[in-house]
Amino acid sequence: MRIGRKQIMLDTSWQELANCLGVDPDLFFPERGASTREAKEVCKGCVVRDHCLEYALANGEKFGIWGGMSERERRRIRRSRSVARQAQPGVAASIETA
Ligand code: SF4
Repeated sequence: MRIGRKQIMLDTSWQELANCLGVDPDLFFPERGASTREAKEVCKGCVVRDHCLEYALANGEKFGIWGGMSERERRRIRRSRSVARQAQPGVAASIETA
């Protein structure tokens, strides 16, 4: 079964399996220019990393480390997906309605 965009936006059950449970949230929202290395280390072995990243992308999370990626890295993914959707409009339509 394919997971639709709405399901990703609403489902937060994956958070129960997160590596960052109990870790200081400030680690994942570093000051501008501060290191993201420690947060990314926590994310490295996280079993819900992909889900976390897709959740952040679907919800337009602009700040913090999600799925082991910074805001800048997530922006890059959003841009490349947008380019891919424009190149294949039929695929984009099926993604938007899933
Ligand atoms: S990928 Fe990182 S931020 Fe996301 S749930 Fe796992 S540990 Fe937490």
